[in-house]
Amino acid sequence: MTPMKKLSKIEIIETQHKLSKMFLVRREGAAKWLMIDAMWSNSLKKFEALGISEGEISALIVTHIHADHLGLAKKLDVRWLGTAEERERLEYINGWFADPSHDKRGDWIHINEEDVELIAQQNLAEISAEIGLSIEIEATPGHTPDSLSVIVSDGDIKIAFVGDADLTDLKTKVDYVQQSHHEMIKQS
Ligand SMILES: [Zn+2]
Repeated sequence: MTPMKKLSKIEIIETQHKLSKMFLVRREGAAKWLMIDAMWSNSLKKFEALGISEGEISALIVTHIHADHLGLAKKLDVRWLGTAEERERLEYINGWFADPSHDKRGDWIHINEEDVELIAQQNLAEISAEIGLSIEIEATPGHTPDSLSVIVSDGDIKIAFVGDADLTDLKTKVDYVQQSHHEMIKQS
């Protein structure tokens, strides 16, 4: 049985590979999950251990373009939504892995702009309907220029998944903040 946490009506599955976490979120009982972040390119076994099929994932949103947050993005057959800022950083990440000393396992798959569907109200609404939660995307640059936070709500509570961002403004707007390398923090 996959370990699942529940806050209000929001179900959360968290898994970790080395220091990198990924999250799956949905309203309890909804047919599909939203995947937030995608660990490393060699994290497939970690994903498979969850027993969740790709078909159960409505979409993937990564909090920023760093190797430990998008590794599985092209290895899984899932819809990947991102911002124009994230698209701009694809050149950086492809370039970084083009150096064989960085791609030691030789398993990096080049990411094209077309692999990332630009986030718009329309596609967020489609995914929101599938996972049963409202979804807001907030730009939270700092850690990287493209860093974003994904805020999900069941109507009663709001949880911000912020990746590696260190936030001040957002903390007053949500009930819980989940950073990649920390436990979830309840806001007062
Ligand atoms: Zn990072």
